[in-house]
Amino acid sequence: MTDFNKTRAMFDIPEGMIYLNGNSLGPMPKAAPDAINAFLHDEWKTELIKGWNTKGWWMQTNTLGDRVGRLIGAPEGTTVVSDTLSIKVFQAVSAGLALVPDRKVILSDNGNFPTDLYIAEGLIKLKDAGYELRIPDPEDVIDNITDEVAVVMVTEVDYRTGRKHDMSALIQKAHAVGAVVVWDLAHSCGAIPVDVTATDVDFAIGCTYKYVNGGPGAPAFIYVAPRLLDSVEPYLSGWYGHESPFAFDTDYRPMPGKIDRMRIGTPSIAAFSLLSAALDVWEDVDMNDLHQRSIELSELFIQEVEARCPGVTFVGPRDPMKRGSHVPFTFEHGYACMQALIANNVIGDFRAPNVMRFGITPLFINEEDIMKAVDTLADILTNETWKEERFQVRAKVT
Ligand SMILES: *Cc1c(COP(=O)(O)O)cnc(C)c1O
Repeated sequence: MTDFNKTRAMFDIPEGMIYLNGNSLGPMPKAAPDAINAFLHDEWKTELIKGWNTKGWWMQTNTLGDRVGRLIGAPEGTTVVSDTLSIKVFQAVSAGLALVPDRKVILSDNGNFPTDLYIAEGLIKLKDAGYELRIPDPEDVIDNITDEVAVVMVTEVDYRTGRKHDMSALIQKAHAVGAVVVWDLAHSCGAIPVDVTATDVDFAIGCTYKYVNGGPGAPAFIYVAPRLLDSVEPYLSGWYGHESPFAFDTDYRPMPGKIDRMRIGTPSIAAFSLLSAALDVWEDVDMNDLHQRSIELSELFIQEVEARCPGVTFVGPRDPMKRGSHVPFTFEHGYACMQALIANNVIGDFRAPNVMRFGITPLFINEEDIMKAVDTLADILTNETWKEERFQVRAKVT
């Protein structure tokens, strides 16, 4: 059984704060300052250029990739970390289209996170060859998987509602009609059990600054199914993915048979030191235990809010097996109400038009936090604190 008191003690969360936003930006592991300091003093300062060899910087895309891979059921040598998730969307979808050259449809859904859709639009414009992006309602994705579709690009957990796609069903249907699947795990990796091997998905991508707790702007990851590693097309063909980077040839030859070909350019080694510290927290965590705790805490939160917070409506899936690890509520004055919560040290976030989102992250949240958060919300509603002028002003980042 995973010891969640132990994992909670591994985070440095400000005294008195109840942090229900680990789905957007994970909190700082206590080991992070020492990790970055060790990188600065024992690696960059002392080793300088030698660090690429002596400290293993060159291969950290892969060594850390393998550690992230363990959270999603990926075998060693199939996952690399670097860059941003937006870039990973481009890499995976462009490579997916190349595997099905006779088809012109990318299928996603209108609940997907906008950057995934924007990147697909940009790729379609760049290819200038009659490609089309289809975005039905999330429930209708499965029926839209036809033999016209080249790539099914779905984010498993909806960033607003928490609704979870049935990935096994989508992947099976896609493969049955000859389409490939790009599975975005932004709100899944570190939140719920994922098994890219058992589902035989083609590509999986995600970020490490949400549930994985790697820090703001932490590197993204890409997984490629082992059966594709020798043929997958790396259109972002940077020198870091070359078969022989230090030959400095003028022509690009992707690293044969290895995930290394999805590497692009020099990664942020400083960011890797923080990601490594974050991954240490995951060493003894069982994803099924984590999921069970997430469900217990979420159910408690939903039940208490519904009993004590009039006007606040749960808008996620009722069945916990159909949710990720965040819970959404609507309230007519959701933005102001969230600002009032934040002013009272209960941190969630707001997604337009009226959704208050709360991340339920068992690594560092317990029942006591949940009860205190609901007490605070109930007080804000009873006293109508949300009406205060200062809570009406919109910040740049919501
Ligand atoms: C958070 C998130 C992103 C963010 O992309 P970045 O390139 O890291 O800014 C992309 N897609 C999904 C589905 C997300 O949830």
